[in-house]
Amino acid sequence: KPEPESEPKSSVQDEKPVEKFYTDDRGNDIILSLVRNEELDGMLQSIRQFERRFNKKYHYDWWFVNDKKFTEEFINGTSNEVSGNVKYITLPKEFFDYPDNIDRGKAAKVREEMGKKKIAYGASESYRFMCRFNSGLFYKLPELANVEYYWRVEPYVKFGCDINYDVFQHMRQNDKLYGFAMAMGEDQKTIPTLWEHTYKYFFEMHPELVSKRNNFKFISDDDGATYNGCHFWTNFEIAHLKIFKDPSYGYESYFQYLDSLGGFFYERWGDAPVHTLAFSLLLDVDQIHFVPDTGYAHNPNQDCPRDNPLKEILRCNCQASKDFTWHRWSCVSKFFDVNGLQRPDTLSQVKK
Ligand code: GDP
Ligand code: MN
Repeated sequence: KPEPESEPKSSVQDEKPVEKFYTDDRGNDIILSLVRNEELDGMLQSIRQFERRFNKKYHYDWWFVNDKKFTEEFINGTSNEVSGNVKYITLPKEFFDYPDNIDRGKAAKVREEMGKKKIAYGASESYRFMCRFNSGLFYKLPELANVEYYWRVEPYVKFGCDINYDVFQHMRQNDKLYGFAMAMGEDQKTIPTLWEHTYKYFFEMHPELVSKRNNFKFISDDDGATYNGCHFWTNFEIAHLKIFKDPSYGYESYFQYLDSLGGFFYERWGDAPVHTLAFSLLLDVDQIHFVPDTGYAHNPNQDCPRDNPLKEILRCNCQASKDFTWHRWSCVSKFFDVNGLQRPDTLSQVKK
C-alpha cells in the first residue's frame, strides 16, 4: 500500500533526535567489547593492538559490557590504554539469562549430550547466553540508543597491520551497513534446525523482507535446500545499529521468531550464523562490506596480506603463509565470486 510522502518511515533512529558525541563530521560510532573481568590481560592485548594500528589516530570511544560488575582493576587497566573516552556497562540480569519460554531441565540435558559429543562449547551455559545476547539483545541496551556504528573487538585478538583510514567513515560514506573481515564454515552440529526455520521465516512467512539483491548464494550452494555454513566471523564485526533495530529491515522480528523456538538453548545457535543468515537476506549485498588487510587474528585464524609491497606499507607483523582470508577453506572468495563482485584491489585502500 502506498504511503503518503510526508510520513517519515517508521524507524527507531527517527524517534529521538540523535545526540552527537563528536563535534566534527563523524557520527556516533564506538568500539564495543563484551568481556569478563578475568579477561583483562586479553583485553589489554587487544586494546594495545587496536590503538597502535588504528585508534590512536581517531580516538573513538570504547565501551565495555559485562554481565558482572567490572572490577576496579579492569576499569583502571583498560581506561589507561584507550585514547578515546571509555564507558563500562553492567548488563541487567535479563540480558544474560533464560527467557521465560525455556525449559531449563531440557536445556541442561542438551548441554550434557552436546558435551559428550565434544561439540565446541556444547556443554556451556554461559556461551549460550553470550550468543543470544549478541544475536538479539545488545542493540536494545539503553546506553546504545544514540550509537550509529559499532566495531566489535574481543579480548585476545590482534591487528597485525596499520589501518590507515577511518573505517567507520569509509562505511558511512559508501552506504555500507555490515562489515566483516573473515568468513568460514560453521559446525552444523551446533545449528541442526537453524536453516529450516530461517528458510521458512524468510521465504514462506516474510518474503517481503528479503532484499532483491541479496547474498543468498553465499549461504546456500543448492538453491536453498541446505545452508552451506558460511558465516561472517562476528568476533570482528562493524555494523550500523539501525539494521538490528529498524523494523523496516525486519531483523528483530526474525530474532523473536528464533528466540520463540528455543534453539539458542536446545541447540547452540551462534550469533555468527544468525547475523549472517539475516543480513545476507535482509540487506543488499552492496551494503555488506569486506574489510581487507587488517592483519586481524583471533584463534585459530589470521589474516595477513599476501601482497608484499602492501604488507610493507602497512607495516604488517604477520606471516602471509598463514593467511586464512584467501585460503580455500575460507568463505571470503565465495562472497565475491557468487555475487559477481570484483575482489578488492588491496593497494587502493592505502592512503599515502
Ligand atoms: P569464541 O570467540 O567463540 O571462542 O568465544 P569467546 O569466549 O571469545 O566469547 C566471545 C566474546 O564474548 C568475548 O568477547 C568474550 O569475552 C565474551 N564472553 C563470552 N562469555 C562471556 C560471559 O559469560 N560474560 C562476559 N562478560 N563476556 C563473555
Ligand atoms: Mn573469541
